[in-house]
Order: sequence, then C-alpha cells, then structure tokens
Amino acid sequence: MRYLPLHFDLQGRDVLVVGGGEIARRKIELLLRSGAHITVVSPDISGPVAAILQEKIHVLNRQVYAPGFLPGKCLVVAATDDETVNEAVSRDAKHLGVPVNVVDSPALCTVTFPAIIDREPLIISVGSAGLAPVLTRFVRELIERTLPERISVLAKYLGSRREKLKKVFTDIESRRRRTEAFMASPGAELAMSGEGEKADIHLFADDISTLAGEVYLVGAGPGDPDLLTLRALQLMQKANVVLYDNLVSPRVLDRVRRDATLEFVGKRSGYKSTNQEDINELLVRLAQEGNRVLRLKGGDPFIFGRGGEEITALIEKKIPFQVVPGITAAAGCAAYAGIPLTHRELSQSVRFVTGHPKNGQVDLAWKELSHANETVVFYMGLGGLASICQQLVAHGRDAGTPVAIISKGTTPEQQVFKGTLETITGIAARAQVQSPTLIIVGEVVDFNRS
Ligand code: SAH
Repeated sequence: MRYLPLHFDLQGRDVLVVGGGEIARRKIELLLRSGAHITVVSPDISGPVAAILQEKIHVLNRQVYAPGFLPGKCLVVAATDDETVNEAVSRDAKHLGVPVNVVDSPALCTVTFPAIIDREPLIISVGSAGLAPVLTRFVRELIERTLPERISVLAKYLGSRREKLKKVFTDIESRRRRTEAFMASPGAELAMSGEGEKADIHLFADDISTLAGEVYLVGAGPGDPDLLTLRALQLMQKANVVLYDNLVSPRVLDRVRRDATLEFVGKRSGYKSTNQEDINELLVRLAQEGNRVLRLKGGDPFIFGRGGEEITALIEKKIPFQVVPGITAAAGCAAYAGIPLTHRELSQSVRFVTGHPKNGQVDLAWKELSHANETVVFYMGLGGLASICQQLVAHGRDAGTPVAIISKGTTPEQQVFKGTLETITGIAARAQVQSPTLIIVGEVVDFNRS
C-alpha cells in the first residue's frame, strides 16, 4: 500500500492554494468544508473564487507564486495550468516537508484527494493513487447507493453514548461485542430514525438476546427490480427472514440477502392461501423471536396492500417496525406503457380504485368516477371488467372513452391492450390477458393521438 489514507483535521489550519481559476475553485470548496484557513496565491483570481472566499479569515494574494508562501502551511494544493509553476510548488513543498497535491499530476503529489462519501461524522474515502479516477468514482457511487443517508445520525448517536458505554462495559472486548450486537439489532434502525432513547434499550440492556427483533414493511414496486428504492435494497440486505407474496417478482427476490430465509405467504392455485390474520401473527412471532423480518409487498404497502392491518398487529405487540414506500402499480405501469396519469388538457385528477368484484358486481361510487377528463385506475379489476365498463357508461361516461389494460406491467412480459369502454371487454377476452393487470380509463390513454 503506497498511499496511506489519513483523515486530516484541517479545522482552522493554514492551507495554501496556488491558482485562482476553475480547477482551484473546486478544491477550495472542498477545503472550505473542512474548515481550513485558505490562502490563495495567483496573479489572476477569478470572480467565483473571490466570491467564495469573501470572509476575512481567508487571504487572497494577487501575486505570482514564490517559495516564501509555504512555511507554516500544513497542506499546499497547486491548481494552475502552468506546468513550471506546478513543478516548482511540488519541489519546494517536498523540500520543506509540506504535503503537496498537484491537480491531475500524480507524479508531483505527496498526497492525493480521494473520492469522498460524506456522512459526517462518518467519512469514507476511495482512492486509486490517481491512476483510475473514473473507477474511483464508480466505487464511490456504489457505496453511496448502499449506505443509508441516516447513517450519520447513527454515527452521532454512537459518539454521544461512548462515555456511558465505557462506564457500563468496562473492558474493551465486551464493549466491542455489545456494539456489534447493537448494530445488528433494531436499536441501530431506531438510532437512525432519531429515536435515541428507544435505541438505548438495545445498547445497554442486560441481556440483548431477550429483546424483540423488528419488521420492515417494504414496497417492492410493480416488478422491475430497478424500480426498487435504495431503502428497500438496504433492508433487503439486512433482513434474515423474508415474507413475500405473488406480486413480488422473482427478479426482485434475487436481490434479497443470499442467506435469508424466504417464505411464501401469498395465493397460489392449488394451495390454500395464507390468510391475513395468519400473516399478522407470523410477523409478530418472528419478530418476537428476535428476527429482522422483511415483509415484501408488491407496489406500495399502503395502496391496496393491507399494510395498515399488518402494522396494527405490530403496534399492538409493541414490535418496532418501519414502512418503506414503493412504486405503486399505477405509477409503474403507466410510465412503462407511456400513459401520463394526468395531463394539462386531458385529465385534472387521477383516482386509484379497487375493481375487485363481489358476486360478479363491482360496487363503487360510479357517479363520481364517470366525469370526463378524469383518470380512473382500477386495481384488481380484470374479473369485473365488463361490469366496470357498463357502470361507467350507465353513469354518463362516454362509451368512446379510451381504456388500457396493462398486463404484467414493468416486467419483460408486459403487454398493453387498448380499446374503449365499449370494446375493451371483448379485446381482453380474445387476448386471454394474463394477470396481474391494471386498467386505466381516461382520455390520457390516447393522449398522443390528437
Ligand atoms: N400494493 C400494490 C397493489 C396490490 S393489489 C401496489 O401498490 O401496486 C393487486 C393489484 O395490483 C393487481 O390485481 C393489479 O391490478 C395491480 N398490479 C400489481 N402489480 C402489477 C403489475 N406488475 N402489472 C399490472 N398490474 C399490477
């Protein structure tokens, strides 16, 4: 390892920047974040650089660089487009033992700027000795994506509990073990949500193994795994038990942590489906056994997802939980089918309604759904399609209103069938449309026909 990463405390310390143009500006902005006291030396100092360094504590020196600027500086950055100056800065700094960075010239540097993931106070730096900056950025993005934003809250929490932890667990080994157990416990999530006092129970409990686990109610989106949220992915890596149902696509399940236990709790033809009370009980039991349980639900958990019932059971039993929204089928299918759900001229509102039929009839406030220039999205509506079309027309919606049926939306098997309130039932029957299907009724379906 030729380059040793060290995290440099620059608060109030003197740093020299040679150069006053655009390249210098970027470095100056970074240095300012660390609280450094900056001296800029350059015959030309650009407006933006002068503007960001307006405060008195910084020095702007409109002169050419000379070695006399170096003594007393703890770091020097050369950011000029003049190679001779850059080389002189590098040589002088090395001579005086001042760490030096020359932008884009690794050979002239004794220190390089890494790519930074900033979750203050947690800072992660990634470097490739200046050899592969694009790769470095790629790795940085990879880490950015998997690291929750709120990890900084967790880092601050742990910092604030350090002294107490030392008092309660006097030897370093037991302290380390407890902090590791805490990181895997619901306490870590509680601390990230700003619930420090509740997190303390996990950090300081006499016997951590008797504490309950937690439940993550997560929306998995309509099918395409690329539509998972970052939060969903993070929790999919964290959970050790996963309960999922029919709407969760196999490609989404592929993203779950490899060693997690997967349990199917949906309906499958030929099998008795797990009823909602059983799922609620299972969630509670698994959490009480100390598991981190991921309840993966298609789309969004709070849109026709019975998420409300599941959290009621968890609240009753005081199980910690969190709900992560997902892209609901209406948003996903509409986007992938190229249908805007609202449109300045064609639709001023959109409603999500359940089209699930009871005894062959769909019972809804039809009058309200039958105005022109409104979009109505029916979930679970295929079985009641004939009744839906008939009722809308009977309550005043034009029989020529366009309708789209989207089958297996956002997946590679997505199919879109279009017709009108008059024709779509026949079209669907002839095409033997596969579920799950979403029905969109409204002028927006044909928005680009005019
Ligand atoms: N919570 C889910 C909806 C559950 S209700 C969400 O927010 O999307 C189940 C209904 O959702 C299905 O009957 C169908 O109407 C719709 N649906 C879910 N995924 C779908 C998909 N990939 N394509 C079409 N419709 C889908």
